[in-house]
Amino acid sequence: MSANTFPSQIEPFKWAEQGFTWSGTLPLSRFARIAREAVGSIDDQLINIDCKLSMDIYHRIVWLDGHIETKVPMECQRCLGPVEIELVSDFHLALIDDESLIERLDEDADFIVLGESESSKKGDFDTPASIDLLALLEDELLLLMPLSPKHDACEHKHQPTIQDVVEEKRDNPFDVLAGLKGKLNS
Ligand SMILES: [Zn+2]
Repeated sequence: MSANTFPSQIEPFKWAEQGFTWSGTLPLSRFARIAREAVGSIDDQLINIDCKLSMDIYHRIVWLDGHIETKVPMECQRCLGPVEIELVSDFHLALIDDESLIERLDEDADFIVLGESESSKKGDFDTPASIDLLALLEDELLLLMPLSPKHDACEHKHQPTIQDVVEEKRDNPFDVLAGLKGKLNS
C-alpha cells in the first residue's frame, strides 16, 4: 500500500492507537453517491481530505477529526445553467463501540456507533469493529448537499430592475419664471 492510498476499511480503535492520519486528494468519482448528483464531467473534480484518528482511552472513544471539501457541478434549479456547489465540512466525530457510551459525550457531539451487533456482546476494548472511512466522509458531505442548488445570482435570466425606469425630465417652473423676468427686464 503506497503512502497516499486512502484506506477503504479501517479498524478505528487499532488505527487510533497507531495515530492514523491521512492528507491528500481523491477524485470526486470516489464519492459515488455525490457524483451521481453532478452534471457534466467530473473528471477534474477533486476531494481534499485531512483526517486523523485519536483515542480517548479513559472514555473508550475514538475521535475522528478533520476537514473535507470538494466542488460539485450541479444544475441550477432557477436558470437550469451549471452551478458549482462547494461542500466544506470540518468534522469532530466520536466513534464508539457501544451505545451505552453515548452518555459520556457532550449533548451536541456527533457520533457513530460501530458494528453494534457483534461489538456490544464482547464489550472488549480491542473489538476489531471496522468501518468504511470513505463512506463515512461522504456521509458528512451528503448532509451539506442542497436539495435545490441555485446560483447566488443567475446570469442567464433577465431580471428587470427599478433603475430601468426612465425618469421624465421636466422644466423647473422657477427657471421658466426667471426666463420671463429676464425678458421683461430687457
Ligand atoms: Zn442559475
